[in-house]
Amino acid sequence: MNQEQQHTPAAVPPAAERPADTVARLRATFSTGRTKPLAWRTAQLRALRTLLTEEGEALAAALLTDLGKGREEAYRTEIDFTVREIDHTLEHLADWLRPEPAPVPERLSPATAHTVLDPLGVVLVIAPWNYPVQLLLAPVVGALAAGNCVVAKPSELAPATSAALARLLPRHLDTDAVAVVEGAVPETTALLAQRFDHVFYTGNGTVGRIVMRAAAEHLTPVTLELGGKSPVFVDRDADLPTVAARLVATKFMNAGQTCVAPDYVLADPETARALEKELASAVRERYGDDPSATEAYGRIVNERHFDRLVGLLDSGRTVVGGRHEREGRYIAPTVLAEVAADSPVMREEIFGPILPLVAVAGLDEAIDFIRGRDKPLALYAFTGSDTTRERLTAETSSGGLTFGLPVAHLTVSDLPFGGVGESGMGNYHGHYSLETFSHRKAVLDQRG
Ligand code: NAD
Repeated sequence: MNQEQQHTPAAVPPAAERPADTVARLRATFSTGRTKPLAWRTAQLRALRTLLTEEGEALAAALLTDLGKGREEAYRTEIDFTVREIDHTLEHLADWLRPEPAPVPERLSPATAHTVLDPLGVVLVIAPWNYPVQLLLAPVVGALAAGNCVVAKPSELAPATSAALARLLPRHLDTDAVAVVEGAVPETTALLAQRFDHVFYTGNGTVGRIVMRAAAEHLTPVTLELGGKSPVFVDRDADLPTVAARLVATKFMNAGQTCVAPDYVLADPETARALEKELASAVRERYGDDPSATEAYGRIVNERHFDRLVGLLDSGRTVVGGRHEREGRYIAPTVLAEVAADSPVMREEIFGPILPLVAVAGLDEAIDFIRGRDKPLALYAFTGSDTTRERLTAETSSGGLTFGLPVAHLTVSDLPFGGVGESGMGNYHGHYSLETFSHRKAVLDQRG
């Protein structure tokens, strides 16, 4: 028996099933109770782990095709990232599922109270194209850990990855409980017309609103993992070579197409000026003189995004980069200085390899700047000052706040990952995924 046959579940989903039939089929499975036992959940998580480890090369090849994503980055940010999420969940799931006792007031005595986590039923996960493996499968990990059936909708803008996931998931997972539906707007619209017990959407806020409206028809709760402009405040006491190296590593990963990428830098004019030189050498250090020649540097997903980004390139003085080629959708890692607060690059989430430096007088103005805009998905700061740390923590609101190491907060499985306001609602990762995909049921037992 070959590997493929070993993992082939007995039931094969019918080809071109209608969305209503897919949901009905999964709902029928859920009603049998089959997805509830811990053993089923852990078996599915292990099977998903096997998929990622055995089929990693196929997924990496698809990511290279869709996004020019190099193999090392594909493993680090997508495949191994999801494996770690699975391992963390497998390690703790039994504990997390234990009923949580709650104190009962004396007047109800003799009584005990506790909460239990109930699976929700059939959930829908809609993923975007920028981390098309991680952002589909990490929510699926939470949904399965919580004992749900799942419809997974990969992004049509990463077609090779979507096709690979649609081929591989049914080979490894319980096809009566997990379905992959590929497609674009019409297919997603048809799915959203169905009644789900939770919709988990990652992508932009315009579609987030469409998802929430559709879910409202069925009173279905939603998690919206959206984007926005994530600022970086660089204090005058920061170690600039370190700041530059870390900004370059996180901003230009996936060619800047990362929801939590540092979007722009706020610093006083002197610090910004000193940072320019450091950023230019950090770019050369990481990507060489010609970033287009290294596998470590990705490409823009499509022409539409390429044209949009090229339109932002003259929003400031070019410190490094600026070169672009439509054929191959290449835009060099670019740093822009002396960028005005109202310039085109500051009006929307950049979602590409352009890093603007915006001068502010100091911390007060930086805080006003951040508070005057949509609440970001992430806020980053480099500072040696505890007062600055405390003030940023107390005086700003963002999905996450990270000092010193941009993006790293989302690799801490015990931290919730999600936005606030325009950057989203709800959160996930580790234990928080389990809560998101479960109902915490209150149980009171009075025996008087
Ligand atoms: P996308 O275009 O792939 O869209 C995401 C999903 O929405 C896809 O599956 C797509 O089929 C579906 N969709 C698109 N239009 C639709 C419609 N009219 N009706 C129903 N479904 C529709 O991805 P995108 O939105 O370009 O992703 C980029 C955005 O996502 C950025 O703003 C980024 O910051 C954000 N993002 C957020 C996170 C996070 O974790 N918070 C992660 C990645 C990306």
